[in-house]
Amino acid sequence: MKEFELIKQFFTKQAVKRKDVLLGIGDDCAVVSSTENQNIVVTTDTLVAGVHFPLGTSPKAIGHKAVAVNLSDIAAMGAKPSWISLAITLPELNNDWLSEFCSGVFELCEYYNVQLIGGDTTQGPLSITITAQGLTPEGKYLSRSGAKAGDWLYVTGDLGDAALALQHLKEDILTGNDIIEQVQHKLDFPKPRVLAGQALREYASAAIDISDGLLADLGHICQASNVGANVVLEAIPLSDAMKQSLLFDDSIDLALNGGDDYELLFTVSEDKKVGLQTALSHTGTAITCIGQINASQTISTTLNNKPVPIRNSCFEHFSSQNNT
Ligand code: ADP
Ligand code: MG
Repeated sequence: MKEFELIKQFFTKQAVKRKDVLLGIGDDCAVVSSTENQNIVVTTDTLVAGVHFPLGTSPKAIGHKAVAVNLSDIAAMGAKPSWISLAITLPELNNDWLSEFCSGVFELCEYYNVQLIGGDTTQGPLSITITAQGLTPEGKYLSRSGAKAGDWLYVTGDLGDAALALQHLKEDILTGNDIIEQVQHKLDFPKPRVLAGQALREYASAAIDISDGLLADLGHICQASNVGANVVLEAIPLSDAMKQSLLFDDSIDLALNGGDDYELLFTVSEDKKVGLQTALSHTGTAITCIGQINASQTISTTLNNKPVPIRNSCFEHFSSQNNT
C-alpha cells in the first residue's frame, strides 16, 4: 500500500468536521481560520515505544494516550482543544494495528470535537508525535507563573495509580486482579481534564498538568512563580485501588513521585476559592486541597502537622536513575 492510500484509508476517516478547518488532510498544509478575539495555544508531545508506554500496550491505548497527553497540556492552559496533527513512525504496515490505533485517536477527538488536520507518516521504530492546538478568549489562559504566597494548592482526581500500574508491570507489586485492571486502565487511558481546565481559567492563579509526578510538577509551578509550597501528605487523594494495594507510605511515595497521572495541579487565592469549587463541581471533577503556597522558595511536606523529610525520586529523562 502506498503512503497516500494508507493516509486515506486510516487518517481521513474521522467524524469531526469543524467549521474553522478550511483545508484538512490532503494538501501541503492544513488551513484553519481564527478570530481576532482569541488566542491559540500550541503544544507537542512525543510517545516513544518502551519509554512512554510499555511495549505490550494495546494500539488503541497508544492512540488514546498520544492524544490525551496533548489535550492534558491544553487543559492545563485553560484552553479548549480544537485541532491536532499526527506524525507517526511505524516499524511495518499492519492494518489491524493501525485501525485500532486510529480508533483510540478518534474516540477522544470526537469526544472533545477535535479535528485531525494533518501529519506525517514514516517508517522506523514506533514513535508518535502529536501537536495539539486550542483556543482561549484573548489574554485568558493559565500558566505556571501566577502562584502567590498564601494561595491554596489543589489537584484533580487521585494520584499515583498509573505509577502503581507500571510497578505492577515490572512485577514489583502483587495485588488482586480487579485492582490491577483499574489502575492499568488509568495508565493506558488517561482522562485529560479538559472541562476542568476551562472552568479553572477564571479562578486559578497558576496551573500545570501532572505528567512527571506531583513533586516535580509542583517544582515547576514554584520555580516559574518564584514561590515555595507545603504539601499536606494525608490530604493527597488516593484511589481505593491504591489504598487496598499498598501501605500509606508507599502509596504516598507513588503519588509524590510517580508519573503519568495527567491530573491538573493548580493554585487559587483565598478570595476565589469558593467560586472555583462551585465552577469545578459543575464539571463533575473531584478536586482536593493538598497544601498551600508560601514565600520560602522550597517545597516541604507535613504529616499530621509535623514536618517530614521530602521523598523525591522523580523521573527525569536522561537521568541515570531512569525509573519508568
Ligand atoms: P507532504 O509530502 O506534502 O508533506 P504527505 O504526502 O506527507 O505530504 O501528506 C499528505 C497529506 O496527508 C498532508 O495533508 C498531510 O498533512 C497528511 N498526513 C500525512 N500523514 C498523516 C498522518 N499520520 N495523520 C494525518 N494526516 C497525515
Ligand atoms: Mg508538500
